[in-house]
Amino acid sequence: MSAYQAPLKDMKFVLNELAGLGEVAKLPGFEEATPDTVDAILEEASKFASEVLDPINYSGDQEGSKWADGEVRTPKGFRDAYKQFCDGGWNALPFESEWGGQSLPRLVSTPVQEMWKSSNMSFSLCPLLTQGAIEALLLRGSDELKDRYLPKMVEGRWTGTMNLTEPQAGSDLSLVRTRAERQGDHYLISGQKIFITYGEHDMAENIIHLVLARTPEAPEGVKGISLFVVPKLLPDGKRNAARCASIEHKLGIHASPTAVMVYDKATGYLVGEENRGLEYMFIMMNAARFAVGLEGLAIAERAFQRALAFAKERVQGRDLVQGGKAVPIIRHPDVRRMLMLMKSQAEAMRALAYTTAAAMDFARKDPDPEARKRHQVFVDLMIPVVKGWCTETGIEVASLGVQVHGGMGFVEETGAAQYLRDARITTIYEGTTGIQAMDLVGRKIAREAGATAKAWLATLKSLDAELARSGNVDVKALRAQLAQGAQAVADCVNFIVESKDPRGTFAGAVPFLKLMGIVAGGWQMARAALAAEKKLASGDRAFLEAKIATARFYGDHVLVQAGALRETVVKGAAAVMSLTEDQFLAA
Ligand SMILES: Cc1cc2nc3c(=O)[nH]c(=O)nc-3n(C[C@H](O)[C@H](O)[C@H](O)COP(=O)(O)OP(=O)(O)OC[C@H]3O[C@@H](n4cnc5c(N)ncnc54)[C@H](O)[C@@H]3O)c2cc1C
Repeated sequence: MSAYQAPLKDMKFVLNELAGLGEVAKLPGFEEATPDTVDAILEEASKFASEVLDPINYSGDQEGSKWADGEVRTPKGFRDAYKQFCDGGWNALPFESEWGGQSLPRLVSTPVQEMWKSSNMSFSLCPLLTQGAIEALLLRGSDELKDRYLPKMVEGRWTGTMNLTEPQAGSDLSLVRTRAERQGDHYLISGQKIFITYGEHDMAENIIHLVLARTPEAPEGVKGISLFVVPKLLPDGKRNAARCASIEHKLGIHASPTAVMVYDKATGYLVGEENRGLEYMFIMMNAARFAVGLEGLAIAERAFQRALAFAKERVQGRDLVQGGKAVPIIRHPDVRRMLMLMKSQAEAMRALAYTTAAAMDFARKDPDPEARKRHQVFVDLMIPVVKGWCTETGIEVASLGVQVHGGMGFVEETGAAQYLRDARITTIYEGTTGIQAMDLVGRKIAREAGATAKAWLATLKSLDAELARSGNVDVKALRAQLAQGAQAVADCVNFIVESKDPRGTFAGAVPFLKLMGIVAGGWQMARAALAAEKKLASGDRAFLEAKIATARFYGDHVLVQAGALRETVVKGAAAVMSLTEDQFLAA
C-alpha cells in the first residue's frame, strides 16, 4: 500500500500564486504567517500526516470503534495519535493566541487540515467537531463558559461535539424536540440525539456537547431553539446524565464513532440567549461546510495518489504503438485519462478551496469595511459550491480510484475501496448536496438578483482578457472552454433570477451547483496555467509544464460539460416534476 505524501509543491503553488498568501500575511494579526513559518508548519504537518495518521487509517477502518456499556473504544493507535496531535499543538493551530492558539490565517490552517483529512478522515473528524464547538463558545459563550471550557478544548484535552440531529429532525432542524427546563443557573436537558460524531470515545478526558434544545415556553419552529453546553463530566468531576446508548454500523469512516446520545435531565448551560440557537448555528455554518468541502478534496487527493502508485506497478496489456511485453497500465490512454481526471479535479478543488479560505481571512481582517463586505459575499456564494461540488467530485474521484485498480479496487486490501466508502458521507452530513444547492440558488442568487454571481462573472471576463494575451496553445484552448462555461453560468443566473416558480429552479439546483463548481474550478485552473506560464523560464519546469497540461485537460474533459449542464438547468425542470407520485413505479 502506498504511503500518503502531502502534495506540498501544489499546496505552496496555490497558496502563493493563486490564493495570495503574501497579501493575507499583511492583514493585521497575521504577521506570524511569514513564508518561513508557513513552510515549516507545512513540512511538520506533512510528516505527522504521513508518519502518524496515515499508518492507522486502514487498520482503523478494519477494526472500527467499539461500543460496550456506554463506553466507546477507538481503534488501536488512535488514542496515542491523538495525544501526539495535542502535544504537537496541532489542535490549537487555527485558534486565537488568547486561547492558546497560534492566530494563523485560515489560508494556512486549510492545507494543514487537508493533510489530516487525506491521511485519516476518521481521525480528523474529532478535531473538526471540537473546532465547531469552540467556535460556538467563542461566538456567544459567556465569559464564565469560555474560561471554563475553551483552554482545555483548544489544547485538545477536552473534545467537542455538535448535537443537532434527532430521529425526526435531520435536514429540517425546526423539528427538534429535545427539552431544556430552567433550574436556577442552569438547565436540565432531556431527549435523544442521533448520528453524533465522536459523541463518546476514549481519546480525551472530557467531552463537551453543544446541544440544540427547546425551553417549555419556546415558540414552534426555528425561532424556538436554544443552544446548550452539556459536558460529559460536570465541573465538580461527577458524571453528567448524558449517555451514549449505541454507535452506528456504517458504510465508511468506521473509526469515527457515530453516537446515539441520550440526555436524561442532564445539566446544561445556555450559550448566548434563549431561542437564538439556530441563528448561532447558521453563523458557524460557513466554517463547518467549508471544512466538509475540504474532505472531498482531501479524499480525491489520497485516492489519486494510491491509484497512481498502483498504475505504475500493475503490468497488463501491451503498449498500443510499440507492442512487445506487457507494460504498466499507466501507459494505456484510458488509464491516463482516469488519472488525469483525478489529478486535474483535485487541483481545481484545492485552488478553489484555498482561494475561498483567503477570502475568509480578508472578510474577517481587512481594515477596509467595503473590502470585508466584498469578500464576505464572495465567501457566502462559494461556500455551498465548495461543500457541494468538492464532496460530489470527491466521491467520483474515489470511484475512479477503484476503477484504476480493477478488481483489486473492489476488494479491501488495497485501501482504494475505503476512500470511496469514507467519501460517501461527505455529501450527506453538514447539509446534503440538495440542501447546499437550494441555498445557492435561493439565498445566494435569487434573493439578491444574482448580484454577487454577476460580480464574480465580471472577474472571469477580466481573466479572459489576460488569457487572450497568452501565446501558449494549451492556455488558448482553455480560454475558449472557460468562456463557454462562464456564458453557461450567466444564462443560468438569468434563468434563476427571472423564474417565477421555485419548483423550476430547485429542480435544477444540483446541476447548477455542479456547473458553478466546474466553472469556478476552471477559473482557478486558468489562473494556474497563466501563473505557471509566467514562471516557466525561472521555476520548476516539470511541475509548471504539468500544471499547464493538467489545466488544458481540465478544460477539454471537465469544463466542456458546462453546456450540457446549462441545458439541464434551463430546460430540465418540466420533466422533473411531470410524473404523479403513482406514476413513479409502473408495477
Ligand atoms: C456518519 C454521520 C455523522 C453525522 N454527524 C453528525 C453530528 O456530529 N451532529 C449532528 O447533529 N448530525 C450529524 N449527522 C447527521 C447529518 O447531518 C444528517 O444525516 C443530515 O443533515 C441529513 O439529515 P437526514 O439524515 O435526516 O436526511 P433527511 O433530511 O431525511 O434527507 C433525506 C433526503 O431528502 C432530501 N431533502 C430533505 N429535505 C429536503 C428539502 N426541503 N428539499 C429537498 N430535498 C430535501 C435530502 O437532500 C436527502 O437526499 C451525521 C450523520 C451521519 C450519517
